[in-house]
Amino acid sequence: MQEIGHWINGKMVSGTSGRFTDVMNPATGEVQARVALATVAELDHAVAEAAKAQIKWGATNPQRRARVMMAFGALINQNMEKLAEMVAREHGKTIPDARGDVQRGLEVIEVCMGAPAFLKGEMTDNAGPGIDIYSMRQALGVVAGITPFNFPAMIPLWKMGPALACGNAMILKPSERTPSTAIFLAQLLQQAGLPDGVLQVVNGDKGVVDAILDNETVQGVGFVGSTPIAQYIYGRAAANGKRAQCFGGAKNHMIIMPDADMDKAADALIGAGFGAAGERCMAISVAVPVGDKTADALIERLVPRIEKLKVGPYTAGEDVDFGPVITQASKDRINGLIASGVEQGAKLVVDGRGIKIQGYENGFFCGPSLFDNVTRDMDIYKQEIFGPVLSQVRAKSYEDALNLVIDNEYGNGTAIFTADGDTARDFASRVNVGMVGINFPIPVPLSYYTFGGWKKSAFGDLNQYGPDAFRFYTKTKTVTARWFSGIKDGASLNFKAMD
Ligand code: NAD
Repeated sequence: MQEIGHWINGKMVSGTSGRFTDVMNPATGEVQARVALATVAELDHAVAEAAKAQIKWGATNPQRRARVMMAFGALINQNMEKLAEMVAREHGKTIPDARGDVQRGLEVIEVCMGAPAFLKGEMTDNAGPGIDIYSMRQALGVVAGITPFNFPAMIPLWKMGPALACGNAMILKPSERTPSTAIFLAQLLQQAGLPDGVLQVVNGDKGVVDAILDNETVQGVGFVGSTPIAQYIYGRAAANGKRAQCFGGAKNHMIIMPDADMDKAADALIGAGFGAAGERCMAISVAVPVGDKTADALIERLVPRIEKLKVGPYTAGEDVDFGPVITQASKDRINGLIASGVEQGAKLVVDGRGIKIQGYENGFFCGPSLFDNVTRDMDIYKQEIFGPVLSQVRAKSYEDALNLVIDNEYGNGTAIFTADGDTARDFASRVNVGMVGINFPIPVPLSYYTFGGWKKSAFGDLNQYGPDAFRFYTKTKTVTARWFSGIKDGASLNFKAMD
């Protein structure tokens, strides 16, 4: 049985706690490895070593740090297939989808190659007689990244790229369900020239997360995961004086106007609703057609498309549309929610429960499910299902549809399909959601923009990647400097305005 430890000071080390958790192969339902769960002492040691390594790294000129990012990017490209297979093996997503997971992370590293431009300060000369004011952006010191299971490459890369390019050291705590990719990325960073100790990968569960939050040396925490944990981490980090950005769960709606191209809308819903088995924080889980005619037209197009979807293990070939969900518990939860939807009066148009994949009977597979006539009070509407389940909520009007999105407690992503520019503009302007798609179902912004939800989808005031990330991972120091031509004017005791 493979045992996964921690990556400390540029080497793999075994865990000392004697506590492990199983890493499953979701396609077979078998245990494929076990990962060590670090103790508080192990975490504190990793942080202390990172703090030592950060001094030199933080003082390294930004261009040299950027060159490490350049070499890292090249190594990610060279190892793309290996990384994709590693992601697929632990997560269960298909190889083409796993390549996307790596690619969207790599794109953030590409922006980090230009980090020196983001790290420039500001300057006002002659702010007063003989006085200049300038500001500089300096690294925080040691920061932490705590990441979810569903993007084992992309989200660790979103965390480590900007943090390291800014001159910080990082403690990365990947999901205990998908730990291998983060360790391999750390090894590639070492090959790219990152000094040992600057990135430590510490595996574990709640115990190690709490140790990160309580460690006085850790200055900032970037979290991605479910909303209750995001809110908890934000609160505890803030109480301990750390800056935190914590991204949570989602319930993403797509409005379909009567003038939309129905075939394109249906194709978009299939990809955004069922891709990666619905285990994306930007998945569309609620379709909101405006008017019964639109709703019926959509169902008519969705059903045959859903029936054609191929569910299976990633090893079955690139024509597999999606794989298993992450655990048996997750599968049971999804099936339980489907049962609740039926009980609470929604119409189950396609039932994905009971799917069997030959040769993979113990895998955590859920077939695609489609509900119609879902209402606001149902559990399938209120909860993030995080599985291949698409719910259709019928809206009477555009305002009705818009208000549904506005009233929802989550605000990660949303989309509208329409042929009318005026409706699209109105939607983009009024909706209270962080990322909006117009005839585009999963509007994950490119890496030189920035990613973040609103409402209960994010806690903290800066987004991840893009310019916000460089603000999050640095603090501003402002210097007011006066150079005397001589001390002939004598000292002034007044606290006076610049004149
Ligand atoms: P999760 O919240 O269970 O776990 C995320 C991380 O928190 C893991 O590293 C885990 O070890 C740790 N953790 C879990 N329970 C904890 C506890 N009680 N105390 C402290 N730490 C704890 O999330 P997940 O199941 O791995 O990921 C799926 C969730 O992440 C979904 O809700 C999804 O929407 C969300 N997500 C959000 C974004 C975003 O950017 N908004 C992106 C991807 C995923």
